[in-house]
Amino acid sequence: MASIAEKSAQATALLAWFAQHQRQLPWRNRPSPYAVLVSELMLQQTRVETVIDYFTRWMARWPTVDALAQASESDVLALWTGLGYYNRARNLHAAAKAVIAQHDGVMPRDAESLRQLPGLGPYTVGAVRSIAFGEPAALVDGNVARVLARWTAFAGDPNAPRGRTQVWQLAEAWLDVPEPRADPSSWNQALMELGATVCTPRSPRCATCPVATHCQANALGLQALIPPVRQKAAAQLVRAAYAVIVGEVDLQSGVADADPCVVLGRRPADVRWAGLWEPPGVEGLDCLDVLNARLRGMGLEPGSPLGPIVHILTHRRYEVLIVPVRCPVDQLPSLAAFGYAETRIQTRSQALGKESGLSRLAQKLVETVV
Ligand code: SF4
Repeated sequence: MASIAEKSAQATALLAWFAQHQRQLPWRNRPSPYAVLVSELMLQQTRVETVIDYFTRWMARWPTVDALAQASESDVLALWTGLGYYNRARNLHAAAKAVIAQHDGVMPRDAESLRQLPGLGPYTVGAVRSIAFGEPAALVDGNVARVLARWTAFAGDPNAPRGRTQVWQLAEAWLDVPEPRADPSSWNQALMELGATVCTPRSPRCATCPVATHCQANALGLQALIPPVRQKAAAQLVRAAYAVIVGEVDLQSGVADADPCVVLGRRPADVRWAGLWEPPGVEGLDCLDVLNARLRGMGLEPGSPLGPIVHILTHRRYEVLIVPVRCPVDQLPSLAAFGYAETRIQTRSQALGKESGLSRLAQKLVETVV
C-alpha cells in the first residue's frame, strides 16, 4: 500500500501532465454548473469530437437553466437530432425545470439535492460537484475505472457491480490525498483525460504515461488483461418496414423535384425515440404485408421495397425494408391510420437538417428514397 507521500508524488505527476496536455474543450472554459451538467449528459455514450458541435449550439440557444426550462420539448429533441439516447435530452430538460421549480433557478451543490434531479446518477452528481463547485466528490466512469484498475492491478472486474463499488472506494480514497483534495475538479478531469487519451482500452501508451512508474499493471505487464474483456450480449433482431411517402409536383412528367416533400409522423411518448419524427413504419415478421395493406387502405400504391438496410443500436439490430410511395403533393395524407397523433410534411433538406427532430434511422430512410 502506497504511503500518503508516495500518493502525493503520483497525484502531482498526473496533475502536472493534465495542466500541460489537456484538450481544449468548450466546457472546460470556467464552466457554470449548468454547462457541466449539459456537457456531462451529452458525453455519456458519445465521443468528445461529436459532442463539441452539439454543446456549442445548445449553449448558444439555451445559455442558462432558465432558458432551457422555457424551451419546448420538440425544440430540445430537434437540437439533439443524431446524438442518440434521447432520454438524456428529456432528462436535461426536466432537470432544468426542477432547478427552477425547486431551487429558485440555482443549481444545488449538495449530493442529495443533485441526486433528486432527473437523469443524474452517481457519476454525474460527482462531476457537477467536483468540476463545477470544487467539492471533494469522487466520480467513476469507464475511463476512470480502467485507469484506477490498471494503476492498482485490480484483480476483479471494475465494470461488474462488486468491482465497481471497490473502484468507487479507490476513487474516494484518492480525495484524502492533499493534492486531489485541493483541486478535485482538475483531479477528476485528469483521471478521465488520461483514460481517454493515454490509458486507452486496447493500446495504452505507457511510454508517455505520467504515472507509468507507479502503475502496477505496467510493472506486471497486465495492461491487456485489466479490465477483463466482457462478453457482449447478443443484439435483439427487429424486422421493420417503413414507407417513405414522397410528394410529387407532377406525377406524369417524371421530372424530379429538387427538394421533394416527405410525410412524417411523430412517435408517441413512452416508446423508443419518443417524440421524434419518422416516415410511417411497422415492426414484426409480417411488417411488409401490414404496411402495404395500410398504405392501400389510404388509397396509396406501394412501390417495390428497397433494402433491407441495417441499423445497429446498443442492444438491437434493425433490418428495415423501405417502401417508396409517390403521391401528388396536394394529396399527401395524414398518418392517423398508422397510429401517429401528429403528421407533418417536410422537404428532404429539412428532414435531413441538423435540427430536424428525426432519429438517425429515420434520416437514413429518407436519404435512401429521395
Ligand atoms: S502506465 Fe499504462 S496501464 Fe498504467 S495507467 Fe499509464 S497508460 Fe495505463
